[in-house]
Amino acid sequence: MRAFTYERASSVEAAAKAAASNPEAKFIAGGTNLLDLMKLEIETPTHLIDINGLGLDKIETTADGGLRIGALVRNTDLAAHETVRRDYGLLSRALVAGASGQLRNRATTAGNLLQRTRCPYFYDTNQPCNKRQPGSGCSAIGGFSRQHAVVGTSDACIATHPSDMAIAMSALDAVVETAKSDGSRRSIPIADFHRLPGDTPHIETILESGEFITAVVLPPPFGGKHIYRKVRDRASYAFAIVSIGAVIQQDGTGRVAVGGVAHKPWRIEAADTELPKGARVTASALLADARPTEQNRFKIDLVERALGAVIAEARD
Ligand SMILES: Cc1cc2nc3c(=O)[nH]c(=O)nc-3n(C[C@H](O)[C@H](O)[C@H](O)COP(=O)(O)OP(=O)(O)OC[C@H]3O[C@@H](n4cnc5c(N)ncnc54)[C@H](O)[C@@H]3O)c2cc1C
Ligand code: SF4
Repeated sequence: MRAFTYERASSVEAAAKAAASNPEAKFIAGGTNLLDLMKLEIETPTHLIDINGLGLDKIETTADGGLRIGALVRNTDLAAHETVRRDYGLLSRALVAGASGQLRNRATTAGNLLQRTRCPYFYDTNQPCNKRQPGSGCSAIGGFSRQHAVVGTSDACIATHPSDMAIAMSALDAVVETAKSDGSRRSIPIADFHRLPGDTPHIETILESGEFITAVVLPPPFGGKHIYRKVRDRASYAFAIVSIGAVIQQDGTGRVAVGGVAHKPWRIEAADTELPKGARVTASALLADARPTEQNRFKIDLVERALGAVIAEARD
């Protein structure tokens, strides 16, 4: 691990300014992803800005009946919160499907959204990886690609986003609130927050230098049945091969986001419109323009079947 300096931010504005003035600085929240990456020298910040003391750990009702979740709310606290369990069950279920109890006690809302891919080549510093070292190549293309993305990929990167929580946030139409170093704030719909890899897979979100997440806001509850189905290689402590986050209403209408298939949570508009007709959800409609590899072609059938199971569960 390389040497770094450390400060505890005194305010939101000071944190954003400190980060904007030093391109080698990083925010640290729970540290459960960042510290692992620093130990492997995949991330090498020279300065850490600790944002844990900024009071961003509250869950509050908004004026329109939605919910504002502070960036530093721990995954355990969010999953267990009474309103979340009652009105946003999908979010609660997705959170408890992720990581382990010990990790969820540390991991934060913002850190979870910003966790980095689990592509094995990204972690293997002996292998080329455009995300870790831009321009070096992608070892997964033509390599071991069973876990990788099937939609929204590029010739530079086929990694997936690993977060369970982000899939629920996507189906729930969350909005990410941020603060910038010039004192301004913005609200970013989650659909626009993460980027596809394109030619720059190392740039994963639309956050600007120094900009940091202060909260995630959920709209007023949609009602309906909330289901999170995670398909993985073992029953716990494993990332999703494929996951489905769904809110399905009694009339059969619904909203669906899929995990494990793309560089960002994949909101399936076709599925949203086909659910009401009760039509059989086909893989081609679900993942239009999919470009699977030979090793991960199975994910397309898996998504179709997992979604079929979710719809059947909702109808029960
Ligand atoms: C063994 C293991 C298994 C796991 N399994 C799963 C799983 O099954 N499903 C799943 O979803 N996750 C899983 N995780 C990942 C875990 O959920 C993340 O590590 C965690 O959510 C990251 O949150 P954190 O607060 O610790 O982030 P940190 O490690 O502190 O930060 C992560 C990144 O976010 C940035 N950041 C943090 N807060 C802010 C902010 N407010 N504004 C701007 N930038 C910020 C940091 O600079 C850093 O780049 C697993 C992790 C481990 C180690
Ligand atoms: S898929 Fe992306 S993260 Fe994995 S090796 Fe290729 S460039 Fe790196």
